[in-house]
Amino acid sequence: MSASTSASPAARKTMPSALTFDLHVKCSTTKARASTLHLPHGAVPLPIFMPVATQASLKGLTYDQLKQTGCMLCLNNTYHLGLKPGQAVLDEVGGSHKLQGWDRNILTDSGGFQMVSLLELATVTEEGVRFLSPHDGSPMLLTPEHSISLQNSIGSDIIMQLDDVIATTSPDHARIKEAMERSVRWLDRCIDAHKNPEKQNLFCIIQGGLDLDLRKKCCDEMVARDTPGIAIGGLSGGEAKDDFCKVVGTCTQLLPDHKPRYVMGVGYPEDLIVGVTLGADMFDCVWPTRTARFGNAVTPTGTLNLRHKSYAEDFAPVQDGCTCACCRPTNQGGLGITRAYIHHLASKETVGAHLLTIHNVHYLLSLMGSARQAILEDQFPAFLHKFFGDLYGDKSKSPQWVIDALRGVGVDLLSD
Ligand SMILES: [Zn+2]
Repeated sequence: MSASTSASPAARKTMPSALTFDLHVKCSTTKARASTLHLPHGAVPLPIFMPVATQASLKGLTYDQLKQTGCMLCLNNTYHLGLKPGQAVLDEVGGSHKLQGWDRNILTDSGGFQMVSLLELATVTEEGVRFLSPHDGSPMLLTPEHSISLQNSIGSDIIMQLDDVIATTSPDHARIKEAMERSVRWLDRCIDAHKNPEKQNLFCIIQGGLDLDLRKKCCDEMVARDTPGIAIGGLSGGEAKDDFCKVVGTCTQLLPDHKPRYVMGVGYPEDLIVGVTLGADMFDCVWPTRTARFGNAVTPTGTLNLRHKSYAEDFAPVQDGCTCACCRPTNQGGLGITRAYIHHLASKETVGAHLLTIHNVHYLLSLMGSARQAILEDQFPAFLHKFFGDLYGDKSKSPQWVIDALRGVGVDLLSD
């Protein structure tokens, strides 16, 4: 594959890093890890779920409310911030932390995925992603250099390379191979363009669709470039869950122990826990906050649609025992919100969505915290049995892909 890259990695200078990754323990059965990621705006316990604050705000939540969920690291979208307020304002104010009044960590995407997914007329060439401005229809070009420049102005603690993203379900193998090789070349351009490596951590993104050989080659090339962290990209695009697990498991097998691993676009509780089991540390998704706007509460026993009339007179908290600001009783400093109240609000008032957003983000953060604690105590297989038992009512009723993925790392959900 050396012909596909712009420079031999051996000839490149070592990239500085603005993070420290402390790997505390690996599960003695599965590939799960517990670690702490020290970033410029504080320590982040891993594994972690990262909520997505699209327009530099998490839909409906103030930053105090986001802090109360325990969030130490959230996402901003480069594409949205680049359009508004725009790079000049970001430079003037001194970056996104100051703009938002958020003193914890931020991760930004490259902006490329937003364009390809949102804009019908986006086309990818070696130069970059061409698209028409959603404001005035004028032709625009997002290059690796421009993406990094925007992210340097945003000042995020973790920045992502621009990659060439293809749907995993694409039948065009040649195009998937081209996209993987181009992503490696674009990483080299991102590394050269990065102005703040001592303050901002650039993560590479492994591509290669569902082709495990392409994924392996991409891992080799990306790892050789020695970025502070590594992402596995291009998944959660409608592929079969078995394929998702194979790609994640194949990549984590080849990645160095001493770097954080981020699987992009994952947010369903069962996907997060299987991802952790396969050796991934970081995940993000808009789903938990988006689904809150449809009246859906994420809980250990599944997702409840509180718009359903069966909740009209259900005066239990959204989730029994939950310690989020929404569910916690008033005599413990919470709001003591009931399912019936959310049901009442859900169809009329946005405050219902705000309350469920608080709950859903808190739930996923605490779920990852519980997984981390179980890994630290070397009780993770028992945690898996309980988690899937609660979620599906009976762990033997777990979907086949979950049973197979866990069996592949030494946990049999069908045994006692
Ligand atoms: Zn709650």
